Amino acid sequence: MWTVDEHLADILGEMAPLPPIELQLLDAQGCTLAEDVVAATDLPPFDNSSMDGYAVRTADTTGATEQYPSVLTVVGDIAAGAGELPKVGPGQAARIMTGAPMPPGAEAVAPVEWTDGGTGSGRAADSMSAPVGNEEVRVLRPVGEGAHIRRRGSDIATGDAVLSAGTVLGPTQLGLLAAIGRGTVRVRPRPRVVVLSTGSELVQPGEPVGPGQISDSNSFTLTAAARDAGAIAYRVGGVPDDPATLRAVLEDQLGRADLIVTSGGVSVGAYDVVKEALQPGDGAESYGSVDFRRLRMQPGKPQGFGRIGSGAGVPLLALPGNPVSSYISFELFVRPVIRTMLGSTDIHRPVVRAVCPVELRSPAGRRQFLRGWYQDGEVRPVGGEGSHLVGALARANCLIAVPEETTSLSGGSAVDVVLLTD
Ligand code: AMP
Ligand code: MG
Repeated sequence: MWTVDEHLADILGEMAPLPPIELQLLDAQGCTLAEDVVAATDLPPFDNSSMDGYAVRTADTTGATEQYPSVLTVVGDIAAGAGELPKVGPGQAARIMTGAPMPPGAEAVAPVEWTDGGTGSGRAADSMSAPVGNEEVRVLRPVGEGAHIRRRGSDIATGDAVLSAGTVLGPTQLGLLAAIGRGTVRVRPRPRVVVLSTGSELVQPGEPVGPGQISDSNSFTLTAAARDAGAIAYRVGGVPDDPATLRAVLEDQLGRADLIVTSGGVSVGAYDVVKEALQPGDGAESYGSVDFRRLRMQPGKPQGFGRIGSGAGVPLLALPGNPVSSYISFELFVRPVIRTMLGSTDIHRPVVRAVCPVELRSPAGRRQFLRGWYQDGEVRPVGGEGSHLVGALARANCLIAVPEETTSLSGGSAVDVVLLTD
């Protein structure tokens, strides 16, 4: 029998981040950066106006008041994106919009509210209604050097290290890459995870359920959990308990998988198809090198881990079929594999200590994972111990981990809690 920690260490010892690839920015969302990004441009790329207003020479506005405004000749109109710029000489101004480049000669921007907006009224304007061709603007107060100018390079200068390898790319990091003109970026790709459920009793949800049949839920839980962990997940539902069929399906899936996760068929019953199809020896046909083992854990005792396919092979984790067991096994063993392949440094779910006000019992020699509800430093079990209880599982936000050597805990004891939400 293996402990939970030994099994996990055995698996992780075989895993490494996937080799980096160059991706389009939006395809890289959630991925880990595999390069140090240095800006090849200044941001802003040119001096520009932070307000709608008038680009002026500061000396022309010295001493301006509402009563004695500076009257300037408007020599042009500069919209955002303007290429050709008017020159602003003494006594002149240019109408300018937010984000438009500063024209030569101008040293500051008078926001439209500091002017009469070119209306000729001499009163503070709240908009720039004046069309081009309105030749004068009255500036109603002095405008200091550099006022309302966003300087070239004031955000990021050419050569600045802006993002370092290992950064997880979220919306703002992708925006920054776009802002500095990067169309693609080098990242660890999302692992492609094929999720495959086995069991001749399974029907796909929505299909009629015959006698003795149940809807396949594991492939949905596990596919969603794989996506949640950052993978590109492919769901292959309901492979019957026939070793030849299973091997054929696996063979088909190998080409698109960085990792294969199966559910069901790993315990000691008859028709334990994953074991029959993959376990070497005992006269069974050998396919790959998957080791089936029993863990000191409840639920989730039977587990398989190894590689299948040619060459180095594709890693495969065979999880037990009971829905709670397979999900807990995913959280404990598969999620860290996906996170490792992503190049993430934070591969495990967070574990916190919490007080459990009710008494807990746990089998000797097994690490028990109970479904729980954690809130404000306190945790309570949700539902019973049965590993078929999907109702309670869906109401839990954590797992209560009771150590191997502990068989009972009195109410008010502190326990380890694995948080299932980010
Ligand atoms: P197994 O590990 O294949 O013996 O399955 C153990 C239990 O889990 C049985 O009651 C199965 O019917 C159930 N089970 C197996 N696979 C699934 C699945 N994909 N969805 C829901 N229940 C399953
Ligand atoms: Mg089965």
